[in-house]
Amino acid sequence: MEEKKPLLELRDIGKIYVSESTVAVGIRGVNLAFERGEFVAVTGQSGSGKSTLLNIISGMDSYEEGELYAEGEPTSHYTQADWEKYREKYISFIFQEYNIIDSFTVLENVELSLMHIRSRTVRRERALELIRRVGLEAHIRQKGSQLSGGQKQRTVIARALAKDSPIILADEPTGNLDSETSKEIIQLLREVSRDKLLIVVTHNFEEVSEYATREVRVFDHAVASDREINPGRNLSKANTDEEDGSASADNEGVQTEKHSTIRNSLALGLTEFKAKPRLSVFICVLLLIASAVLFFMFTTFWSEIRVFFVDENYMFSRVTGRLVVVRSDGAAIGEEELRSLAEKTGAKEYVRFDRAFDMHELGEWRDYYPHYDMRGYSPQDSRPFNATYIDDGAKPDIGRKPENDHEVMLSVPYFMRDMFGVDKIDFTSVSIGQGLSYDVVGIRYYIDSNIQGTMLMTREGFEKASVFSYMMDPQLAVTFGNATRAPLNFDRNLPVGKIYVSSGLEREVPYVIVYRREMNTGITFREDDIVRAPISVESGSFAINPDTVYEDLKAFAQANCRQASLMYSSNSKAAAAAETVKELGYIAALSNATYKIQSYVEIIELIIMGVLYLFMWAMFLIFTSFFIRICTKKSMDAFKSDIAIMRSMGIRVKEIKLSIYIRLYACIIPSVILLPIGAYFLYRTDFGGRHLTFLYWPQYLIIYILLLFVMARVARKHVSNLFSESVRGALKSE
Ligand code: ADP
Ligand code: MG
Repeated sequence: MEEKKPLLELRDIGKIYVSESTVAVGIRGVNLAFERGEFVAVTGQSGSGKSTLLNIISGMDSYEEGELYAEGEPTSHYTQADWEKYREKYISFIFQEYNIIDSFTVLENVELSLMHIRSRTVRRERALELIRRVGLEAHIRQKGSQLSGGQKQRTVIARALAKDSPIILADEPTGNLDSETSKEIIQLLREVSRDKLLIVVTHNFEEVSEYATREVRVFDHAVASDREINPGRNLSKANTDEEDGSASADNEGVQTEKHSTIRNSLALGLTEFKAKPRLSVFICVLLLIASAVLFFMFTTFWSEIRVFFVDENYMFSRVTGRLVVVRSDGAAIGEEELRSLAEKTGAKEYVRFDRAFDMHELGEWRDYYPHYDMRGYSPQDSRPFNATYIDDGAKPDIGRKPENDHEVMLSVPYFMRDMFGVDKIDFTSVSIGQGLSYDVVGIRYYIDSNIQGTMLMTREGFEKASVFSYMMDPQLAVTFGNATRAPLNFDRNLPVGKIYVSSGLEREVPYVIVYRREMNTGITFREDDIVRAPISVESGSFAINPDTVYEDLKAFAQANCRQASLMYSSNSKAAAAAETVKELGYIAALSNATYKIQSYVEIIELIIMGVLYLFMWAMFLIFTSFFIRICTKKSMDAFKSDIAIMRSMGIRVKEIKLSIYIRLYACIIPSVILLPIGAYFLYRTDFGGRHLTFLYWPQYLIIYILLLFVMARVARKHVSNLFSESVRGALKSE
């Protein structure tokens, strides 16, 4: 066995404080050696150098003269980092100021010093054990601020023990306590540190006299006397063997991985978050408001952009995989021709009459919602209510899907529920013009205000609607007698086969010809087919069941309607096919094609708007971070002393800094959760559905990133403010 070195040895130690104008002696010529198991009482008058001695031993203060040996190793050459390691290995402090974190519970305060233990459960167990040892088991969940002086000091002792270092230093640990509590604390200190070196500075020798094993009296910055007392009480020799054994075994199991910075910071950050719930909630609320503002900025920004280059410029309604084809010679495209084009280009199908896709008829809807004429005001304003036969599989919320050619299912924004029906269909029919109406048999509501309303028809109904829509552009009319013109209306209630004339037209009508744009459609009714209307047909007009003329109208459209559509499984397939179709001599246009912005004025306007918006956002973000920082400055400044305590306990600066970031970032979580939920309900309201652009997850992601940016700024400023002072400075200024 090698020669036994004292745990601590001071040889000719001297410390001089030099300030701008004065030079003060701290201590001089100190020669002392300490061993495990000793309870050293350092006594002396105020200003005699007791604290200086302790600070040197702790490595918190440097010494200029002599040498301090730790287990025989000289320390005079130590760097700052060496001292940190030294402190971590040897020293636990107990100060006069209790120095526990007021906002943390007893358990959290103790666990703080057990950060090096990896497992949460082990850490918790060990903390509970220590708390039991100092007799605080009844106050585990109590906050530091609610403890009495004695309880605080007990917590500090538990924490000092948690470190399990061989030296415990206590500078007037009972300075603020009544004499009875002081006795208890000293007794406790003695009990829990029998195997350690315990050095207690006190101006009241009385209270330690019963327990101390040695008294070092300091007078006039030097050791005046050094004597052993209560020799029988030094139980260390008898006890160390077993206790040491158990303690070190304990240590090995516990002190695994020491440097898990992120894990420690995370635990610390979340404890801080919980410790000051009012502050946390306050920041959360501020962030929630900021995220709401960002949300509104986004929804308005997006619709601004839309007005510039998306909305108004779509040539056709966007139907996935649709390719619109026209013969380049201007002739109407034939059915056979279309079929072969579809085959050649791998189309799913062709739609000879595709007009209903682009029908911009809103029917009576417009009467109910006049704002639909206010362009550029809400996303739906410019979004027509298009017909389609493509069933996306969505189930109706009320009613059913169409089953015949005059039934439709509507898909409309949720906020219009009041108008379309909540449990039963209130909006029972849609007219596409000239009285040609469809029965609404089902309604589906959706939240996403970016998508357009649709009117789902059967395939046959869609074709008929397309033919009628084409023929009714601008109006179908009839002429009779002396080339007199009269409007023609459709009415599904009328019997098929005849044309009905209003009772207002008293004159004899020998024949009726149906016209479209001054063109004779070839549809003619003779006397026998013209019937005086049995029911009230609008005065001066004719009415007919649409089925009576459909086949004839279709034949006319067949010969005159130039446009048709080829349907592919995706837009990219359609785009590829467009090339082939063009090579075959047709004009082809994708349904998602837009007119490009052509005017430079518009481009410049767009850029200016974009820059303005970016500037506005940047200003808002800077202002928000500034505001949050100012609002939280006081609370964060109060955190300064907590940081000093954490540092004195050996928690790394890096970990504390990171924990502040984590603590502040955690405040974003409520916004992350509540923003989309709030938005969802907002979109269901009349205001939200009508005026706010629906946002998708990437847009929310951008909002969250901006919030992170705000909090990063706040945290960075707080951190640089909090760490501008040294540990001792902060502790002293408390
Ligand atoms: P005690 O703890 O016994 O009351 P200290 O160790 O605090 O005494 O102080 C010893 C001497 O060192 C005193 O004269 C005091 O003025 C001086 N001293 C202590 N700390 C400083 C300092 N930071 N700067 C200058 N002088 C100091
Ligand atoms: Mg002192």
